[in-house]
Amino acid sequence: MKKKIVIIGSGFSSLSAASYLAKKSFDVHVYEKNQTLGGRARQLKKDGFTFDMGPSWYWMPDVFESFFNDFGKSTQDFYKLNRLDPGYQVVFGENEIISIGDSLDKIYTVFEEEEKGSSEKLKQFIASAKENYEIAIKDLVYRPGLSPLELVTPTTIKKVNYFLSNIKKDVYKDFKSPKLRQILQFPVLFLGAKPSNTPSFYNFMNFADFGMGTWHPENGMYSIVEAMVSLAESQGVTFHTQSPIEKITVDATGTATGIQIKGEQIKADVVLSGADYHHSETLLEPKYRAYSEAYWDKKVFAPSSLLFYIGLDKKVENLAHHTLFFDVDFDEHARVIYDQPEWPKNPLFYANFPSVSDPIMAPEGKEACFLLIPIAPGIEDTPELREKYLNIVLNRLEKLTDQSLKKEMLFCESFCVNDFIEEYNSYKGNAYGLANTLFQTAFLRPKLKSKKVANLFFTGQLTVPGPGVPPALISGKLVSELICEANL
Ligand SMILES: Cc1cc2nc3c(=O)[nH]c(=O)nc-3n(C[C@H](O)[C@H](O)[C@H](O)COP(=O)(O)OP(=O)(O)OC[C@H]3O[C@@H](n4cnc5c(N)ncnc54)[C@H](O)[C@@H]3O)c2cc1C
Repeated sequence: MKKKIVIIGSGFSSLSAASYLAKKSFDVHVYEKNQTLGGRARQLKKDGFTFDMGPSWYWMPDVFESFFNDFGKSTQDFYKLNRLDPGYQVVFGENEIISIGDSLDKIYTVFEEEEKGSSEKLKQFIASAKENYEIAIKDLVYRPGLSPLELVTPTTIKKVNYFLSNIKKDVYKDFKSPKLRQILQFPVLFLGAKPSNTPSFYNFMNFADFGMGTWHPENGMYSIVEAMVSLAESQGVTFHTQSPIEKITVDATGTATGIQIKGEQIKADVVLSGADYHHSETLLEPKYRAYSEAYWDKKVFAPSSLLFYIGLDKKVENLAHHTLFFDVDFDEHARVIYDQPEWPKNPLFYANFPSVSDPIMAPEGKEACFLLIPIAPGIEDTPELREKYLNIVLNRLEKLTDQSLKKEMLFCESFCVNDFIEEYNSYKGNAYGLANTLFQTAFLRPKLKSKKVANLFFTGQLTVPGPGVPPALISGKLVSELICEANL
């Protein structure tokens, strides 16, 4: 008889774990509360427009490739990837735009134009970032976070100083131009914390950015979800949508017996939750929870976001597939996310126009527009605030790129803190999990294996290794290995 495993939620980490576990001959059932699979990587289709509602940056293509290779497949068997050029552009003011091209040589040239002598410094910075990337991928991120000793290898010992400094310090030491400083601090935002609170070792994200490039799967990021679901089904995984889990049931011996959905008990030998870790523990009786409310409250969470999905009745000008608007004070915006949570007066924001490079994403002659303002988790979210910030960012977009947009708006859907909570059971409406700060790295993160219930496991962006789609794929692999090793 195959052992049965139930997985709560269908985000990338769950999808990844599901395939690995099915390959190891478990009878795997994934239960998702929503109608669609893929967790936060949802797709919105409206009036011929297609939007990725969550992740939109495809970085670290090697991690995706390695995932599919583990099943004798390649990403190309499922979706077509294109490297974007420019990877992205950054707007610092009217007619002040820096484009990050698709090769290091193009990027060195742009740096040198902005600050004399900076290309040499960038070469050294990227050489160290590349070295750290290789160490991270080979020695660190594929470790389950069970013990601090996992981090001690002959190569990592030489890198101890990279855990004692931070990204902001390093960037400020080597680069004088405020624009270059902001560009170099941007990649660590994916890790969810301030650059001043992110160890220097994470400069490997700068190699992921400049060295490995920004890619786009045709039809958008949802193609990855479709690929992973199709792979999982081919391994024998069964999916159940519209199945909100109300309880993880545990017997008197402290062993999980299964889950409860709409009052019905579903028995299992192993329970794995890929839903938000905090929420997953609330499905247990309090005595079986390993982390208290006070524990979660003290943690540094990645930001929440105010998102807009807009159909435009025109093609845009002067805008790339990915454009960052860093024309306001970066430190001030970070302060109101992390230090004194409130709505930013002058928000930084990110604009995504996928139809600029992928015509499938919008009807001919029109443009799909996705706007993202990072905000503190847990702050007030009202229709009035959403409307106010829509106007702020659209006015800035129009002014900075010298074109009208508001009058060509066909529709605008929004998504914010309340939706993250309602749709994904997300703690305080965080968008992408628990930040990777020094004290929230590796073995210091919430554990993949429950400390209190023998056959209960967790995966996803609040555990190891951290936020983002590539880490979610890795998290699913790590937890599946722990489950197999546990020999339950
Ligand atoms: C707006 C936004 C932009 C992002 N941009 C990027 C990007 O560009 N690049 C990148 O790499 N990453 C990005 N991320 C982060 C990335 O999307 C996430 O880190 C990753 O998708 C998280 O996957 P996960 O497996 O941890 O879980 P999730 O995607 O959170 O999935 C968890 C699932 O569990 C379900 N669930 C919750 N409670 C229950 C229950 N009781 N019963 C059943 N099901 C339940 C939820 O509905 C959800 O489907 C972004 C995230 C957001 C939100």
